[in-house]
Amino acid sequence: MCGIVGYIGKLQASDVILKGLHKLEYRGYDSCGISLFNENIDDFILYKDKGRVNHLQDDFNYDFENHLGIGHTRWATHGAPNHINSHPHASVSGRFVVVHNGVIDNYKELTAKYLVGYSFESETDTEVIANLIESFASSYDVDIAIRKTLALLEGSYALLVIDTRNPHIIYAGKNKSPMILGKRADGICLASDLMALVGISDEYYLIEDKTFVKAVKDESGYAFEMYDPVGIEFCPVRNEVHLDTEEINKGGFPHYMLKEICEQPSVVRKIISNYAPDGKFIIDKEVLNLFANKKRIYILAAGTSYHAGLLGKVYFEKISGIPTEVFVASEFAYNKPILEKESVFVLISQSGETADLRACLVDIKKLGYQSLTITNVKTSTLAREATKYLEIFAGTEIAVASTKAYVGQVSVLVIIACVLEQDNKCSLLTEMGRLAVAMEAIIDRRDYIKELIKTRLLKRNAFYIGRGIDYFTCLEASLKLKEISYIQTEGFPAGELKHGTIALIEDGVPVIAIITQKHINKNTRSNIQEVKARGAEVIVISMNDIKESDDDIVLMDVHHILSPILAVIPTQLITYYKALDLGRDIDKPRNLAKSVTVE
Ligand code: GLU
Repeated sequence: MCGIVGYIGKLQASDVILKGLHKLEYRGYDSCGISLFNENIDDFILYKDKGRVNHLQDDFNYDFENHLGIGHTRWATHGAPNHINSHPHASVSGRFVVVHNGVIDNYKELTAKYLVGYSFESETDTEVIANLIESFASSYDVDIAIRKTLALLEGSYALLVIDTRNPHIIYAGKNKSPMILGKRADGICLASDLMALVGISDEYYLIEDKTFVKAVKDESGYAFEMYDPVGIEFCPVRNEVHLDTEEINKGGFPHYMLKEICEQPSVVRKIISNYAPDGKFIIDKEVLNLFANKKRIYILAAGTSYHAGLLGKVYFEKISGIPTEVFVASEFAYNKPILEKESVFVLISQSGETADLRACLVDIKKLGYQSLTITNVKTSTLAREATKYLEIFAGTEIAVASTKAYVGQVSVLVIIACVLEQDNKCSLLTEMGRLAVAMEAIIDRRDYIKELIKTRLLKRNAFYIGRGIDYFTCLEASLKLKEISYIQTEGFPAGELKHGTIALIEDGVPVIAIITQKHINKNTRSNIQEVKARGAEVIVISMNDIKESDDDIVLMDVHHILSPILAVIPTQLITYYKALDLGRDIDKPRNLAKSVTVE
């Protein structure tokens, strides 16, 4: 969650940090702040507030020389999103200033043990870190004071620290929360992800958990030092940034969400060209070996990725014939089922930084299981730490609500399932090509959906109903509508509604039915009659070969097993246009974060 950018170098630090914070906005946040060394007055300034980076940028003064600073976007975990709780936080004397991303689990214990008599301004766990450093700095060098503090912290943190007595160093530490270091001859940038480095540095270093880092300016220029948990200095591996700057602007669309919805056919095509370069699906041998002789697959995921996982189960069982179970990561982490010994874990995460999944990964590794991460970010923690990873090639996804990454995840799951099929008869490659065309066809008709939705979904709540794999699309569709329009929506198995929830159906309650499968067509249509009879306002999404004359959205026929990848698109468009009508903050819905790096 949230983001961190720190900079020391020849450029104006405020420019680098504010630009970086803008680029990290997609991660979700509620407040932001910055601390800079103002060379004109030889002192540090600190600006922070609840609200957007634009506010931080436009409503404060940066008209002074500054070449060192730290900035933060906060997604509140401890204390309300307000001015006082926003980062940076200073220690009690003001000497140490910190920004922190993550959650310190033992902050109360640390306060009771080391900080008796200290007064705190904010409700955050972060302020404890600043004060711990200060308390140790009264007896130790700053490096040791920070390292001692880091050693005591339990939980997750990406942390930047400034000692206001020395405006030539930024200190950093991390555990579980992401942070990287970008370097060029004239400066060093520390940030939550590569996005913040675009245009600043093309050389970067991953920072491993429990590493202590110093970015220093001395007579010879700018350099950094990295120390392992026991304090031994080491040389990290140098990497190059390959981010397409074009990718990260809106490309003429009013919102990233609409741009990303429209990119989905090309995501499917990109996946085909990466996974079937020679007209046949191919998966890396070492990835396939993870599945060899396995009696069971466990899929772990959260949110939208969990819905992709539910489809993954269908594909692994129906296409590859391997029994599969799917778990919500935050539940699995603390409530494990009896695990089959001969099994493999598949972790699905759009960002590759999902803390709930990371907690599971640490555990399953200890138990000796191998794992595969399916993610959109190949430099992410989960990609690095799982036994193997597979990319979904969706390109950078900026809108907080995932659309193209979901389609990418489901497509890659189909491909793995096909390659794992014993007889290798799976003929879905051409079908996937047709799928991309059908996706384009419904995207081209988006103005029709825009009009259709104007007079629908007028209530505070709504339902999606469907059976079988359509039910899984309903779950994803309803999550999307909740996230962006704030209409309370439930995805329901169509046949289950009458067993209780139908009590909520009254005049005008919107029910959207998804029917893509021939064998359940009649059943779902009976359920539609049941809700209509009770006053529901029904929208039907169906396929050409099973359509009825008054169906609202009819999709081109595609292979029945691929239909969820197509049927989700009109539901994304319904969400987008409804949210637009309601004037919602579409790309940055309230309370949500793009990469959920807290448990
Ligand atoms: N736990 C800290 C807070 O509530 C940091 C939250 C974040 O990751 O932004 O302030």
